[in-house]
Amino acid sequence: MSEQGTQVTLNDYMRQVRHLCDEKGFSSDPEQFWQMLALIHTEISEAADAYKKGQPMEVVGEELIDAVIRILHMLSAMNMDAEALFQAKMAKNWARPYRYNTVRAK
Ligand SMILES: [Mg+2]
Repeated sequence: MSEQGTQVTLNDYMRQVRHLCDEKGFSSDPEQFWQMLALIHTEISEAADAYKKGQPMEVVGEELIDAVIRILHMLSAMNMDAEALFQAKMAKNWARPYRYNTVRAK
């Protein structure tokens, strides 16, 4: 909930990220699709590296949040509805069986 008592959505966070990226001069050109994907991946790698090196979990978490921020930036650049995508995918996942019927993964 926001301070005004209204529900905060993923799109609110996406708009915050987009505002930051615009103010800080980062491109939101959808033609940068591959670069944006690669940068999301770098943040995941940074999280893995921080974990591997025994850094505090706060550092690992910060890198994971970097990935979330980059994902929201990319969704904004692609003019997508992050909240609708999130809600639809969560509903789909809830409808899936326990462990999604995976056999070799936990
Ligand atoms: Mg980072």
